[in-house]
Amino acid sequence: MIKDSVLNKKIIPVWLPIPSFQPYCYILPDEMKTSPGSLVRVPLGSRELIGLVSDDVVPVFSSSIKLRVVSKVFNFPPINQELLEFVRFVSSYTLAPLGLVARMVLKISISFEEDMNEEGLLYSGLIPEHITSARSRVIELLMRTPRVWPRSQLLREAGVSSRVLERLKAQGVLKSINLAYQSVISAATASVDKPVLLEKAQRQAANLLQAAVLEKRFSVSLLDGVTGSGKTEVYFEAIAETLQKDLQVLILVPEISLTPQLLDRFASRFGHAPSEWHSDVPRLQRNRIWSQVAQGGIRVVAGARSALFLPFQKLGLIIVDEEHDSAYKQEDKIFYNARDMAVARGSIANIPVILASATPSLESYVNVKRGRYRYIHLSSRFSNAAMPHLKAIDLRVNRPSSGHFLSPILLRAMRDVLEGGKQSLLFLNRRGYAPLTLCRFCGHRFSCPNCSTWLVEHRSSSSLQCHHCNYHKIIPEICPECGLSEHLVACGPGIERIAEEVKEEFSHARILVLSTDTVRSVKQIRFKLESIKQGHVDIVIGTQLIAKGHHFPDITLVGVIDADIGLSNGDMRAAERTFQLLSQVTGRAGRTHSESIALIQTYQPDHPVMQALIANDRTAFLTREIEEREANQFPPFGRFAALIVSSRMRSKAESYARILRSAAPEAPGITVLGPAEAPLALIRGRYRFRLLIQGSPHIHIQSFIRCLLKKASAPCGLVHLQVDIDPQSFL
Ligand code: ADP
Ligand code: ZN
Ligand code: ZN
Repeated sequence: MIKDSVLNKKIIPVWLPIPSFQPYCYILPDEMKTSPGSLVRVPLGSRELIGLVSDDVVPVFSSSIKLRVVSKVFNFPPINQELLEFVRFVSSYTLAPLGLVARMVLKISISFEEDMNEEGLLYSGLIPEHITSARSRVIELLMRTPRVWPRSQLLREAGVSSRVLERLKAQGVLKSINLAYQSVISAATASVDKPVLLEKAQRQAANLLQAAVLEKRFSVSLLDGVTGSGKTEVYFEAIAETLQKDLQVLILVPEISLTPQLLDRFASRFGHAPSEWHSDVPRLQRNRIWSQVAQGGIRVVAGARSALFLPFQKLGLIIVDEEHDSAYKQEDKIFYNARDMAVARGSIANIPVILASATPSLESYVNVKRGRYRYIHLSSRFSNAAMPHLKAIDLRVNRPSSGHFLSPILLRAMRDVLEGGKQSLLFLNRRGYAPLTLCRFCGHRFSCPNCSTWLVEHRSSSSLQCHHCNYHKIIPEICPECGLSEHLVACGPGIERIAEEVKEEFSHARILVLSTDTVRSVKQIRFKLESIKQGHVDIVIGTQLIAKGHHFPDITLVGVIDADIGLSNGDMRAAERTFQLLSQVTGRAGRTHSESIALIQTYQPDHPVMQALIANDRTAFLTREIEEREANQFPPFGRFAALIVSSRMRSKAESYARILRSAAPEAPGITVLGPAEAPLALIRGRYRFRLLIQGSPHIHIQSFIRCLLKKASAPCGLVHLQVDIDPQSFL
């Protein structure tokens, strides 16, 4: 489109999915109409992009200025005002460019246009008047795979021309359907009158949540219930209440491995599964879900953090399941915590938010203490199932035999369980066979050439892999340093190695290993989880993929192989995280009536985390942690932000980090630490330096950083700067 003078023209602001902090202005031709939230196609440089019309104030342009012209306004209901406000909030909170946040909304609809205009074709069952080879190719394909076919795909796969399809349509052999409006799985028809019988404590909790829904305004409730207390059933009642009001519901889950079970349970409660939203959902399906969420056709979405940016038409409730989970923090392009942003979205939409967890985050717990969040507690398991007996195994005393990792006590317990026909679960949060391979002769260690990490041995694929970049190589036969063979040894265990040991000990047991290396899709996860539930497995060995949220009725023993893994990383949340993870994983045991135990192998049985776990005393643990954080003004009693500078050239990264440091204004209540080389000093070939900004609670840390960035010159093209507000990782 050509440029036109702005004289007497209507000008609209448009957010484009590019790293810009400002909207772009375009001339709207007289025959087009838009309102804030409309989707438009506009020219930018030599391309055309889909953008979102915003409600920003348009600057006054002098009459000689020329602007480009909107090419098209999509015939689609404008996106809700709330979402525009949310995008603006996320951008100003995280300091990510507005355009990149808008892209979270638009990402899905980039291919919108092609799908919107795309016709879907379906076989009617009629035989054409005249069979040609092209026509029969089309019909054979449609009979083999009877579904709605996008026109372009049918053309491609049948290898026919458009004319062939047109003729078949004219004869009624093909039926045409508008794909964009084709119904997808939705809970629109979900019935809300199939309640399960709740126990008394559950009923009381559900009543409180229902009351929050009835208030029809913003509130946050923390649903804190021990593992197996039936939190899901309880928050389903709040969902039922919301659906009855004809409003939409968003359920966030931290990991897609947790969705299958949720979908099944939802379906049995409401007669219909909710729509799923995560990266594994096929693109076409995502586009349809997106458009139907916008039109209100889909009532309930269960999804990963990106579901927060779906264009709900009338959202009435947000649930954040496993709210403590660090997987809610996205650390890619836009650094945001989906749990916190869910609360923000609830506040903007003025609707209730429910945070559920068996191990609430310290932040949420403090918010309860401060009276900001309501507290709803389920203190015992559903149906009186007992909590597992927890015992620490002191590895200094109970040593596994040389080159092995399972202590005699754990082995004995596993044998008993196996003989009793029940299941065991072994947990180790380490993928692969061994975290380090070294040469015993010369001391050479295999490290990644692109990252400052050791290569992890994966014996199943005979490779050494970097878990930070895609680097991998075949396990070598000789040491690259000294050239000798037979001296390379694997150090420490990963779950593959534990599996090997278990096979050695229990040769007849049915063993299942679960990690992101052994399951590649949601379908596979679903299949394997089901086989555990059906009792087709005796011993499950898994990483954190298996640790959280799942309900396995027959697991009576949980063994934690190395409870100390997360404790020594120097992070202020190390103890809290370890406590949460170990509570979650041990909580997989004994979820039906049988007695159950959890054995925790550790070198530090006296560590406060282990003590609190064994004594089942979360309150004491949290109280201590809170005191410590308060004394140090660590979050939530102070604010943190990190500036991470990276470059392929170490010196450039370092010098820009120094520039940032010297641009930091003097401000009371703010301390700037660093720059220091990051603990992960090299990732994917980029050298990294970090600055940490620590502020007292009432400091507006974003304003401080904006001010700092304005003073410092922008980084040159070879240097990248990432701002991380409320960092979860300090690596
Ligand atoms: P949590 O999420 O709190 O760990 P779950 O929601 O997984 O606990 O509940 C544990 C098990 O108990 C699940 O199998 C669930 O279906 C069942 N359950 C919970 N409450 C009820 C109820 N009121 N009626 C029937 N089954 C229930
Ligand atoms: Zn060597
Ligand atoms: Zn690497």
